[in-house]
Amino acid sequence: MCGIIGVVQKHGDVAPFLHQALKRLEYRGYDSVGVTTIAAGRLYIKKEKGKIEEVHRRLNLDDMPGSIGIGHTRWATHGIPSMLNAHPHFDCNNEISVVHNGVIDNFLELRAELKEKGHVLKSETDTEVIPHLIEDYMRDGLNLFQAVKETTKRIEGTYAIVVMSTREEVSRIVCTRDGNPLVIGRKEDVSYVSSDIPAFLPMTNDMILLLDGEIASLTADGVRIEKLADNSEVKREGIKISWTADQAQKSGYPHFMLKEIHEQPEAIKNTLRLRDDVIREAARIIHSSKRVIMLAMGTSGHAAQAGRHMFASIAGVLPVFELASDFPDTVYRTLTRNDCVIAITQSGETTDTISAVKYAKESGAKVVAITNVVGSSITRYADYTILTQAGPEIGVAATKTFMVQLAALALLALSLGELTGFVDASVIERKRKFLQRAPDIVSETISRNEELARRLAGQMYDKPSFLFLGRGVSIATAEEGALKLKEIAYNHAEAYSAGESKHGPIALVQEDYPVVFVAPNDETRSRIIGNIMEMKARGASIVSVISKDDKELASLSNHVFTIPEQIEAEFSTMIFVVPLQLFSYYMALKKGYDPDKPRNLAKSVTVL
Ligand code: GLU
Repeated sequence: MCGIIGVVQKHGDVAPFLHQALKRLEYRGYDSVGVTTIAAGRLYIKKEKGKIEEVHRRLNLDDMPGSIGIGHTRWATHGIPSMLNAHPHFDCNNEISVVHNGVIDNFLELRAELKEKGHVLKSETDTEVIPHLIEDYMRDGLNLFQAVKETTKRIEGTYAIVVMSTREEVSRIVCTRDGNPLVIGRKEDVSYVSSDIPAFLPMTNDMILLLDGEIASLTADGVRIEKLADNSEVKREGIKISWTADQAQKSGYPHFMLKEIHEQPEAIKNTLRLRDDVIREAARIIHSSKRVIMLAMGTSGHAAQAGRHMFASIAGVLPVFELASDFPDTVYRTLTRNDCVIAITQSGETTDTISAVKYAKESGAKVVAITNVVGSSITRYADYTILTQAGPEIGVAATKTFMVQLAALALLALSLGELTGFVDASVIERKRKFLQRAPDIVSETISRNEELARRLAGQMYDKPSFLFLGRGVSIATAEEGALKLKEIAYNHAEAYSAGESKHGPIALVQEDYPVVFVAPNDETRSRIIGNIMEMKARGASIVSVISKDDKELASLSNHVFTIPEQIEAEFSTMIFVVPLQLFSYYMALKKGYDPDKPRNLAKSVTVL
């Protein structure tokens, strides 16, 4: 999420460097930009919503005095993209400037407390509590380094924070992190800090890592790092970076898609941290409605289909799923003000979904949106929005944003289940516990299947057509697996209910025809075995995704991807889809296609 840069040097203005460094962080995705410098004891500030070059044309980001400065590209999580919400944020007297990446969970409590004390907060962000907390500690006589230390004791959440103040005698940047990245760069008479290496890579390739729970003080002369827990100094060797700027933007991965697949555990973890009251309110709206209609397109549609199963088996509520593009044709006419629409779109700008939501609103139905982008169009039409926390996704084919949609739907299903009492409270509790472990299971699933996916792609790259089969919630998983293969490797791939497969698709099957089975060890397993036998009898080459100790299914398959542990059936999509994402990625690679930029597709589809 977002980009941070800070620099302190002995002489000369830093503004032109900050501007260029922010541009090198543009790939991370952002909606606003801002810079502050300090010269002659005062802050110079330029910030605005929009792209860096647009803002530069209006404000001239290069024209700011001072040899110390910080900059930020914001990817909004709290408060719409706007000038006031853009970072840096300041204390009451414009003496402390802060940029932040992440989310402060307890910002509402802190805001109330600060306002009570007379602080004036200007933005809607969670971030703005930080400079005001620092202000109070500095007023008590602490220096900037100590004040930031104290502030970290008050804030809960994830953060990378970079701060400077006009009240310091020596030009100094203080930075700390917990859960969001920060790296430090050094060269003679200059110190850098950034959320990613490309920002300062043209200037130096000497880097020092900053780890969670550490705080650093940067001056032009050097860097001092301490552990927050016991104030002990950390002596850390620097690292020489040999990456090119392009490699560095992808954290060393060859493509954004692979990087984002690897970021999935973290994206799920961040989404599972959504506040209970946010989820409960959405569940309340759904519970008080007569009918629930899920609307989405593409990968979000597969999340909706998996969500439908979660709602049914955990809460006893069976939503209708409809493609948003088809909704205006018939279904909308049946809608009433007693119904509730759940609209899912990663970008919040999908025109099909927004247009369907407008129809829904006309009939008076309530709209709950699930999106990954704050302030996106859907949030303006929806009565209520759940914001997933994947951070920006660059690869066109959705991976981590799919995962966070599933995580949000899982939380919603559990909360709805509590309201309907369809299953025992102990079952909900068990499923909640499982969900907390999901990030680790996804991570383990990536490591145990990646090499296999690469090898299998090497064997199957010349197969033109694939069938993906599953039952129950695994149909959604199969659909997503097939879609990924179509999107980036340009294979013909069709997903079907395994039950339905014998009513037509089986006619395609002949010797060595690849059929991919999504076969978790759930109530569908014994029937899936029957379908595997049918396909085998016609010579199909069986690839299956199964749980690791399912020896029987392994023996029936030609190739197996394995899942490390027993899962809660309704949540299986989140885990079982991972090997299929990897398989598609390596198929695209083997066939010589760029998985980040599939032909004919756009990241956010804004046409009907
Ligand atoms: N939560 C902060 C905001 O919404 C930081 C967002 C970011 O990481 O860019 O302003």
